[in-house]
Amino acid sequence: MIFNLSEIKDGGLSLSLARSPGWLGDSARSEITSVGSDIEFHIDLTRTIGEVSVQGRIDFTAVSRCSRCLNDVSVDTNLEVKLLLSPSDKEKKEESNDDIDYETYRGKTIDLNDYMRQQVNLSLPYKILCMNDCKGLCCECGCNLNARQCECETLLEDSRFAVLKDIKI
Ligand SMILES: [Zn+2]
Ligand SMILES: [Zn+2]
Repeated sequence: MIFNLSEIKDGGLSLSLARSPGWLGDSARSEITSVGSDIEFHIDLTRTIGEVSVQGRIDFTAVSRCSRCLNDVSVDTNLEVKLLLSPSDKEKKEESNDDIDYETYRGKTIDLNDYMRQQVNLSLPYKILCMNDCKGLCCECGCNLNARQCECETLLEDSRFAVLKDIKI
């Protein structure tokens, strides 16, 4: 994802491109979450005096393990991108506006790879539930309690009850 400034004409440059999950390389942040689809970029580059603005979207499907039942969950992810690039010889702008990111570019080329990778990585969920009331796994037998109710809990409660009954008041 490297562009030459001359590619951005007066009317701007609109791009739709896709990268496979492998493009993220080793930077993929966690073991529980991966990208389960191509990563699609729809971005517009426009040039103002000395600066390049990048606006658009990143779409992909993240696949993450439910933190209770460990089932894989697909999460459709749509990210907004708003980036302003200044030449590297200029001082980096203070981040005054939370909605816009600021980066620099060197010479006449713009390399968006690192920035885009970072955006994708930051958006990957690290803790997710397959559903709000996921019952998780039984800590005794390990069965998925969403699928079936095992006997363990009732047995456990019975034994607790038995302990209570032994206490003489
Ligand atoms: Zn779950
Ligand atoms: Zn069980």
